[in-house]
Amino acid sequence: MSSTRLVSSLHVIPMSQGVHQADSITGETFSLGATPVMVHCDKQQTNYYNDLSGIGSATMDSTFVIHQIIISVLVVAGFVCTKTILDNVRRRTAKISVILIGGGPIGLTALLVAARCCRVARIVLYEELCRKAMFCTPHQIAFDVKSVHFLKRHGVDFDNIEGCWDAGCFYTRLAVFQEYMLDIAPRVGKPVDIRTGTKFTSESLRDLERISGRKLVIACDGSSGQAAQILGLSDEFVQQSCRAYGAVAALDRPSECQVPLPERYVHNLHFDLTAYGSDTSEVDGYNGFSFKVFGTSRNRYMTLSIPKCESPLVKSLRTVLDRSMMRNIFLKCFNTYKSSSEPNLSDPLAVKYMKFSPRLFEIRLSQRVENTAYFQEPDMFVLAEGEAARCYNIHTGMDVNVGLRGLMALPTFLSGIAVADTDHAILKVLTQKNKDAERVCREFTRTGLAEYHLSRSARV
Ligand SMILES: Cc1cc2nc3c(=O)[nH]c(=O)nc-3n(C[C@H](O)[C@H](O)[C@H](O)COP(=O)(O)OP(=O)(O)OC[C@H]3O[C@@H](n4cnc5c(N)ncnc54)[C@H](O)[C@@H]3O)c2cc1C
Repeated sequence: MSSTRLVSSLHVIPMSQGVHQADSITGETFSLGATPVMVHCDKQQTNYYNDLSGIGSATMDSTFVIHQIIISVLVVAGFVCTKTILDNVRRRTAKISVILIGGGPIGLTALLVAARCCRVARIVLYEELCRKAMFCTPHQIAFDVKSVHFLKRHGVDFDNIEGCWDAGCFYTRLAVFQEYMLDIAPRVGKPVDIRTGTKFTSESLRDLERISGRKLVIACDGSSGQAAQILGLSDEFVQQSCRAYGAVAALDRPSECQVPLPERYVHNLHFDLTAYGSDTSEVDGYNGFSFKVFGTSRNRYMTLSIPKCESPLVKSLRTVLDRSMMRNIFLKCFNTYKSSSEPNLSDPLAVKYMKFSPRLFEIRLSQRVENTAYFQEPDMFVLAEGEAARCYNIHTGMDVNVGLRGLMALPTFLSGIAVADTDHAILKVLTQKNKDAERVCREFTRTGLAEYHLSRSARV
């Protein structure tokens, strides 16, 4: 009976693990059923019992048990408090490095977002083109109202960028925007290492290993980039139909200057193609085509689009391969709806300088199936953004905005990954980012074309 009681208040060490020679310590050996246990009672505790020899053994035991419980509670509370304080300090000071691959508009905007995040300690940007080559890209980019607000919030000063405004949207040359962003990058108050003329390859993974601590690598290397795959993301894409058909044309007029121009568009266009032997009769629900001209005055782009329908005209333009028919449609549309200050496009110039799709194709949005991941061994998050994550198979004249929508969740993601310290927390931030990417694609598949192409009222 007494042995059982003592065991409950003293250290119990199984014989197999404990000291085998009872003589060497102040202890006794008891037999409790089949398992021999060693009761290990140190000198101090023995004296304690000796001193209390006059008091009833029940009172003595309960006082001792209460003391032990209080001490244990204090130790546990102290441990919990210290851990909570240390966790809070670690959370408040947790920092990550951000590595960006691609110095297009999305990579450079991601750089700005990362630079303004207090969780980011340093930033590295890889861009395969040298600065001179970067500034030679001819085409224009157009920021819609939401993107303009987002960029302004992150410090972009549109008053210092050459371009033009129309209905709250900002139109500029891609090269102009890149030059501005690279110019402000060193002034963002964070160590930024810009490696232009440096292509990211599988060899570059070794450079990443040398960056200590947690890191986020963002692949923003455009629609034909390989970085996401090199970093371990699956290269699988799914295509979502936008329930519309379209065709594009690009016109390079060497005699014109690279002046940014607002887009011009018109809706409910009908074409008479009987001269080409095509049936142009209409069926119920046929809305006609939307036509858009955008780009700089030198590099002009045109897009024709129509919601999916069974009109004989649409069927002809989808199946009949008659290049002159399509060229004539673009030529006539351009001359009718271009801005009044632009010169007309003649037949010979169209033949020489205009490239176009020979027939209508289905408009789709491609979306990377896996756009974020975490690799434990190098403590590295990987993310794909911009056209490396999603893009249309047609130019809408507003393409850059799809990529910028994805970046709007980046500040939350950066903060989340900096403090995520358990598998559960890591999974939670990844899931959240994936859901956001899904939402961006869903919205653009459902309403993006309508917003940028199909259903806005004509302003020409
Ligand atoms: C002809 C044309 C006309 C367009 N017109 C318009 C328009 O009028 N309005 C509009 O809003 N949008 C327009 N766009 C679309 C717009 O340019 C894109 O949406 C936008 O540039 C996508 O940005 P991004 O940063 O995702 O990719 P990109 O702009 O393609 O940038 C990717 C960058 O990554 C770099 N890179 C690639 N691989 C590597 C590597 N391995 N290592 C390091 N760097 C690498 C590339 O050099 C490039 O600089 C047009 C596009 C084209 C092609």
